[in-house]
Amino acid sequence: MTDPALIPGELRGYRQFALRDDGLYPLVHTASGPWDSHETTAVCAIGEDHEPPAHDCRCGLYAFYLPGSATVALGGANAVVQARGRTVLGDRGYRAARARIEAVALPAHVRLTPGGTAKARRMLAERYPGTQVYTSTRRMLADHPPDDVRALGITPPPDQSRRYRAIAVTLWAAFVVAGYSLAAVPGDALADNAHRWWPALVVGIVGWHAALVWLASRLMAEQATRAAGFSSDDGSPPA
Ligand SMILES: [Zn+2]
Repeated sequence: MTDPALIPGELRGYRQFALRDDGLYPLVHTASGPWDSHETTAVCAIGEDHEPPAHDCRCGLYAFYLPGSATVALGGANAVVQARGRTVLGDRGYRAARARIEAVALPAHVRLTPGGTAKARRMLAERYPGTQVYTSTRRMLADHPPDDVRALGITPPPDQSRRYRAIAVTLWAAFVVAGYSLAAVPGDALADNAHRWWPALVVGIVGWHAALVWLASRLMAEQATRAAGFSSDDGSPPA
């Protein structure tokens, strides 16, 4: 962690919000209320008498430099933010004095609710008129790639969370397809050739489980370094 630095212009970051009927709330400190329409100013969540972000506190509006694990956690709405003002720069992300929500992607549970997308779009257009709304995180990230923070002397470690998740989904789909294919074969043919297919089945199932365990451990490692390397406290304005 370096000393608070002054960021010229804006610094892009990635994080999640809880999308509610009346706004975008931080995932932690939800009691502090939704982010403001245009620009949110950090307030120290533990009420210390200093201007966030303080070097020896955990306040400030946080975001990660890279999408990665910031956009993998379940439930929240993935978002792109632009920070300005005094900013504490970490290895993987920053804590800023002020920030605005540049873009947000509607989470699956909203898109899958009948009328959910239209309702969310209405609320966001009213409350966050400057925020671009997407139905796909992938498209949002393509339109809003990370800033190159190497110019600030920071080389964030690559985050593989999204790739691991894609592999997990592929493995799961392969298993489901294999299961249905097996069910489609007539029972007699299966029984007659059991000596041929069962070793392959055992190897397949063991391999599939091993791959899932490996993936889970990789994802947990990413999340752990994320938690250790960077505070997720959020000094949002009080409700
Ligand atoms: Zn503080």
